[in-house]
Amino acid sequence: RAKQMGRNNYQFYTNTLNKEKTLLFELENSLYNSLENKELFLTYQPQLNLKTNTLEGVEVLLRWQHPVLGVVSPSKFIPLAEETGLIISIGEWVLEMACEEGTRWLDLGYPPIMIAVNVSGKQFQQDNFADKVKEILIKTQFNPEYLEIEITESILMQDSEKTETIIKELSGLGVKFSLDDFGTGYSSLSYLKKFPFNFIKIDKSFVTDLVTNFQDQALVSAIITLAKGYNMKVVAEGVEVETQKKILKNFRCDLIQGWLVSEPLIREDFMDFMASYQQKTIND
Ligand code: C2E
Ligand code: MG
Ligand code: MG
Ligand code: MG
Repeated sequence: RAKQMGRNNYQFYTNTLNKEKTLLFELENSLYNSLENKELFLTYQPQLNLKTNTLEGVEVLLRWQHPVLGVVSPSKFIPLAEETGLIISIGEWVLEMACEEGTRWLDLGYPPIMIAVNVSGKQFQQDNFADKVKEILIKTQFNPEYLEIEITESILMQDSEKTETIIKELSGLGVKFSLDDFGTGYSSLSYLKKFPFNFIKIDKSFVTDLVTNFQDQALVSAIITLAKGYNMKVVAEGVEVETQKKILKNFRCDLIQGWLVSEPLIREDFMDFMASYQQKTIND
């Protein structure tokens, strides 16, 4: 009996594995067509300046409207896009759409805000990344001063000379850079010295328990002090409640992003948000 159960378990195990493999394979296949089929779309999450209570920026977050599975999270398909190389064309599309949107908002009379776009390792490390960004900026007529490129620490480890060249070249045009998910990777402090980041984003894993966890408080406060020493602005991610905001404000954190301010919004809703924000006077 034990033997039989063992076999059943094994069968169950391989069946689940096969199912997962098939699902992944199907996902990969449909990802190939997602651009053509216009299944990808952008969402926009506001970033609030804690000192002035004004809208200072927006992070562009990609979504995939899969015909069968519904909306697929980028944490599921970005790794797949990286593996297959699709990230190059997808990433380019995101960048172009974001810049196009930014220009449109300015044309419509909205006050300028920073537009932050996530760029993954493979996309950043391709030979002509800087040229591609320049082409997109020209094509979309977007002011480079308002483009912010978010990269993670893993990129800095890969080929630091190349990375430095790209950052310097685009910074020269006015493009800003932010270090995303700070604290979750290797977080070598030498990165702060070596690369001229404009923003550091504190990962939401340090914000989640901020109110009750004094160690997280110490860490977040130290990161903010450190960043100020390097003239970098700090964005706290994943701020969901007022008490977290209060603590971050006390710590002199520059910007917050999270559900407390707003979830990521589709473009129409984000434009409404911008419009209402201009009128709103916010109380602390
Ligand atoms: P990220 O860049 O660190 O983005 C922040 C994530 O936190 C987003 O998840 C956002 O929706 C989520 N978030 C924001 N506020 C809150 C909050 O208050 N509470 C909680 N629990 N979560 C919050 P999302 O949109 O699922 O994106 C996941 C990751 O996928 C991003 O992490 C980024 O690394 C990647 N990603 C998204 N769009 C793109 C893209 O266009 N290109 C590339 N290469 N990566 C992207
Ligand atoms: Mg990001
Ligand atoms: Mg992040
Ligand atoms: Mg993250």
